Amino acid sequence: MKPLVVEKAQAEKWLEELCRVFDVFCPVKVKGDLYQWGRLGKKGLPRIPEGVPKTTIKTFFFPQPEVLFEFGARPGLKDAFRLKEPVCEKRPRLLFGVRPCDARSVVLNSMPYEEDPYFQKNRDETTMVGFLCKDGCSTCFCTWTGGSPLGMEGMDLAVVELEDGALFLEPITEKGLGLLEFDFFREPTEEEEVFVKGLREKVNKDAEETSSRLRSKGLMDLYNAPFWQEVSDACINCGTCTFLCPTCYCFDIQDETLRGKGRRIRYWDSCMFPLFTQHASGHNPRGDKLKRVRNRFMHKLKYFPDRFGPVSCVGCGRCVRDCPVNIDIRQVLARMLEV
Ligand code: SF4
Ligand code: SF4
Repeated sequence: MKPLVVEKAQAEKWLEELCRVFDVFCPVKVKGDLYQWGRLGKKGLPRIPEGVPKTTIKTFFFPQPEVLFEFGARPGLKDAFRLKEPVCEKRPRLLFGVRPCDARSVVLNSMPYEEDPYFQKNRDETTMVGFLCKDGCSTCFCTWTGGSPLGMEGMDLAVVELEDGALFLEPITEKGLGLLEFDFFREPTEEEEVFVKGLREKVNKDAEETSSRLRSKGLMDLYNAPFWQEVSDACINCGTCTFLCPTCYCFDIQDETLRGKGRRIRYWDSCMFPLFTQHASGHNPRGDKLKRVRNRFMHKLKYFPDRFGPVSCVGCGRCVRDCPVNIDIRQVLARMLEV
């Protein structure tokens, strides 16, 4: 599919057209350098910050909370326990300004959620316009985990911001191509093609094959490695790392009932919380902190790659940036690779 270019002024009109069809979301400034995903507010092109916003796009695919179904449980009535899909009238969604690591997280989450109709429906109803990265931040490490600042996995349309504010657009899927059915675009000039090619050449192609190195490690060697005590000592099990992580997808299910009717709801949960694994008997197989911290890293960096191939981390750096006690997954990864 051929790339096209849209000038800055025309891009604003293009986005206005897209808003007629889609609910458009983008990184929204909260204060200072703090951005979160939210609905596109004022007119004009939003500023897409370097690096990733504080929150992730997983909330669009794995909402917090998500009603799975509703039920009527009034005894004595014919329709007692009849199940009903929740009615939710919404327009298709467009995510504008997704960074490559976050777009890739949706591809990774689709692996365990392949059979999950809720996740897959949300994915079908969402179109992703990704913005490729020219500069990352100090906590980004996507190339360690199989990604790239110019990676396009998971995107429908990839955007490179040119020096003068124009946008270089590469459609990747039919959905992405559909976004370009307007008269706002022109063919790229030779200089623009050279500029984008130059960016691609700058990306480190010698990134380590981390996942295959981890797959070759013995499971029990990593599980019994001596460093887990030290890694877990500082952790306060706050769950910040898992709630901010685009590739953490643990959940809890609860039924809420009121006057004979109810709904079953899926909420985000975290393997860092003691109750997450507590059985009804009171036994807890991950009852102490070391076991929970070890599980978080082993799941991402050993169990997931053993089962699906890639590591379940896209190197966005959110957990590094926001852990209150400075636990850094890059240091843990380095220690796991030494075993
Ligand atoms: S953010 Fe840090 S302290 Fe909180 S649970 Fe995660 S590793 Fe532990
Ligand atoms: S583990 Fe940390 S760096 Fe990796 S994807 Fe999750 S939040 Fe980002």
